[in-house]
Formats: sequence, structure tokens, C-alpha cells
Amino acid sequence: VPQHRIVMLEVAEQTVSVKLIRHHWSRRMTLTVNAAGEIRLSVPPRTPWLLAEEFLRRSHGWIASNIPAEPTLRQGPTAAQKRQARQLIAAKLARWQPEFAKQPARVRIANQSSRWGSASTRGTLSFNWRLIELPETLVDYVVVHELAHLVEANHGTHFWGIVEDALPDYRELRRRLKAFALHD
Ligand SMILES: [Zn+2]
Repeated sequence: VPQHRIVMLEVAEQTVSVKLIRHHWSRRMTLTVNAAGEIRLSVPPRTPWLLAEEFLRRSHGWIASNIPAEPTLRQGPTAAQKRQARQLIAAKLARWQPEFAKQPARVRIANQSSRWGSASTRGTLSFNWRLIELPETLVDYVVVHELAHLVEANHGTHFWGIVEDALPDYRELRRRLKAFALHD
């Protein structure tokens, strides 16, 4: 019966498990990926586990380029969620846009993982569909923030002045938004 042990590694921002198997026929350490996507290290009979683990640490590059594609953990929006997001953003833009000198060239609902919204230099505003999960006052803040970027691209004093004209309590809203951990 081959001896084996499992080692967990952090590779390319993923936790990867590698099965170390000691085969009597094994001559040298060899890494393989089987059809099921399992990573295995074949270890010769007299090679200590410690040496095998050290070999693994030196093989991060190989493992990173051979791990199977990461299963999608965070699902994208359903059609209904996307529709809800589009309606929410349209309503908020209708509310806030008249207070701004510039209009977005395009508005899109995005599936970004790290930002609530963004503004491109060409005037496209993108809004994360997960805004539908936030309290409405925070959605107001995100929409105002991105509309203000149509006027001022950076986060300088002029930019915050524009935000403050629309939302005098923006500092509090910005602080609360941070608790939801996506965007600044
Ligand atoms: Zn910004």
C-alpha cells in the first residue's frame, strides 16, 4: 500500500492541495496533474517527507501554471438581479444627474469584484450590480461619486467639493460604504 499525505499550498492566490504519494517504484520526485485536476507528487521510497515538501515549495511556478481553472466561487448576477441593478441605477441617475454639468456617455452594469463604480475618461460610468444589496443612501453616494468624476477625474479637493455640493453628508456615507468592503 503506497503511503501518502496531503499538503496544502498557497499558490497564485488559491489554496491548492497536493497529494504526496510514496511509490516503491518511484526513482525521483515527479509532479503530475491527473484528469480530475488533482496534483500529485510521486516520492521515492527513501526520500523523507520533509524533502518532498521542500521540493513542493520550489515548484510553486510549475504548480501555478498547471492548476486547473478555478471554479467560479462568486456567481455573476442573474438576469433578474441585473435588471434590478439597471433600474436602480437609472432611477438614481435621473435623480442626481440634473445637478451635474456633464452627462455620462454610456452607463453599464458591471460584474466587477473590487469596485462599486468607476468612470472612464471617455465618460462611461460602470456600476457594480451588487449595489442592489446596499442601503439606498449609499447607492446615492456611489452614483454621485461617479457623476462627479465626469467633471473631475481625480480625488482632489475640487472633486470632493463637487460631491459635497450634492451630498453634504458624503463623509459619513463614504465611511459607511467602507464597511461594505468593495470600493473607496
Ligand atoms: Zn473615485
